[in-house]
Amino acid sequence: MHRTYENEDIAVFWDSEKCFHAKRCVGSSPKTFDPGRRPWIDPGQADTAEIWQAVSKCPSGALTCVYKHEIKVEFDSDGNRSVALLGEDMIGECDYQEKEDGWEIYHTGVDPEYEGRGIAKRLVFRVVEEAERQKKKVIPVCSYAAKILKAKE
Ligand code: SF4
Repeated sequence: MHRTYENEDIAVFWDSEKCFHAKRCVGSSPKTFDPGRRPWIDPGQADTAEIWQAVSKCPSGALTCVYKHEIKVEFDSDGNRSVALLGEDMIGECDYQEKEDGWEIYHTGVDPEYEGRGIAKRLVFRVVEEAERQKKKVIPVCSYAAKILKAKE
């Protein structure tokens, strides 16, 4: 399972397949990481510095995070994609096609001016989250999406 949790400053990514429950995150920021709560991660409960530190202590790579730089990432079901928006401007997208066996992610792109800010990862996670919620398999044909979904970070 892939999920993104956001506060005003950062997006926290969690990949359940990598999480082996060492619970260092819980010890480092108990208000943010509470296994008894749903959702169990809530970045609105502590300050960003504390959350960033907690994420950096995750031994498995299940948790990662990026600064948002005031860039929003939204799911666009009509367009079969997720989009990155800075104000009114679209600066990135992750596109998929509905196939018989699942959602095939065939393209992820970010305006070169905004590369290196984790936007592509947010875009891929947004599509994958939605696919998982709709019980669809994800087929990452796009090499970037494939890398993100396989990466041991
Ligand atoms: S520290 Fe990482 S591996 Fe441990 S419970 Fe938290 S997310 Fe999972």
